Amino acid sequence: MRQKVIVVGAGLIGASIGLQLQRQGADVTFVEAGLPASAASGRSFGWINAGFYLDQTHHHLRAEAMAAWHRLHRMLPKLALEWCGCLSWDISGDELEARQGELSQMGYPVERWDRARIADAAPMLASDVQDALWLPGEGVAEAGVVTRQLLRAAQTEGAQLMTGTRVVGLSETGGRVSGVTTQSGPLQADNVILAAGTGARALLAPLDVALPMLTRPGAIMQSRPVARVLDRVMVSPDLEFRQDGEGRILAPTAGAHQSDDSDMLDAAPDELAHDTMMRLQRWLPDVEISWERITLAMRPVPGDGRPVVGPCGPAGLSVAVMHSGVTLGALMGELVAQEVLSGEASDWLTPYRPQRFAAAGAN
Ligand SMILES: Cc1cc2nc3c(=O)[nH]c(=O)nc-3n(C[C@H](O)[C@H](O)[C@H](O)COP(=O)(O)OP(=O)(O)OC[C@H]3O[C@@H](n4cnc5c(N)ncnc54)[C@H](O)[C@@H]3O)c2cc1C
Repeated sequence: MRQKVIVVGAGLIGASIGLQLQRQGADVTFVEAGLPASAASGRSFGWINAGFYLDQTHHHLRAEAMAAWHRLHRMLPKLALEWCGCLSWDISGDELEARQGELSQMGYPVERWDRARIADAAPMLASDVQDALWLPGEGVAEAGVVTRQLLRAAQTEGAQLMTGTRVVGLSETGGRVSGVTTQSGPLQADNVILAAGTGARALLAPLDVALPMLTRPGAIMQSRPVARVLDRVMVSPDLEFRQDGEGRILAPTAGAHQSDDSDMLDAAPDELAHDTMMRLQRWLPDVEISWERITLAMRPVPGDGRPVVGPCGPAGLSVAVMHSGVTLGALMGELVAQEVLSGEASDWLTPYRPQRFAAAGAN
């Protein structure tokens, strides 16, 4: 008999997990408090990379996640993904050489580019960028669009999507999860996956499952559309930026946004947008840039910065909450679906289990 699975949250992580479950024979219902991709996934920078990592194990997970996106992209060729590569000059000299050495040693494609290569690839970039790393395997996802594409693919296979439906609790029968309670009534299921981003913690608390979360607001400045000047992700010492398909240049207001540890935005949104635009102008001196909008979202960052994935609480309940969810999304879909349907634990997820917080006495 087909297993009935409720996926709480229709962001990128929920969409990816739900699609894989539906394709592999489950009956999936997505239950979403707002609209699909209305939280972090619709306001993300969307950079897919393993150049940022917390340790080697985390790097290998991210590299495998890039491979998982290629697998999914082959299955759904119209996904809004681009393997554009990344040009990075945020560090220089010995530091740059050390990073290149470390990445190469881990088998990650990386090249050192001199001024001539940089000027050839990015003629509009400031001429004082002399030395950079080129990371050809990296890419971007228009994460909101991709989320909706994955949901549509799952719906085509028979999944159901309920929007505007907030889950307020989980129901349990005989030590096993039996569904969820929503504002509009109960829903039954054999398994429940919490892919609710920053909303997961509150749903787990009554079950005594600890999920410490950091408070990490993120903001992205978007310029008015300009003629195409960039065709890859750019990483400067004070700013990351890229151009989207409509010509807008996107830049998180925090430089090195993946490791940003501020728990508050340090200025009003319009000031942040203006400041980001000025920093961007320094790197693209001949492009007339004006900011058009700024998007804000809370980033779902677990207490130790690492993903939290796997079974927890009563039997039949799993959680999947993480930052860098755009990078990790396709792989999380594969791994969580496999664990739920086969009951076999994946080695990839061993370091990222929710139980590590209970062991540490976190709350
Ligand atoms: C500014 C910014 C820049 C980022 N840049 C990158 C990047 O470059 N690369 C990268 O890999 N990652 C990046 N991220 C992180 C990435 O976007 C997130 O990790 C990813 O989108 C998380 O997806 P999710 O589905 O887990 O969460 P979300 O997209 O937040 O979705 C969770 C969903 O659950 C729903 N929900 C919550 N509670 C309930 C409830 N009780 N009942 C029903 N539904 C509920 C919410 O409404 C929401 O739609 C960035 C994030 C931000 C904000």
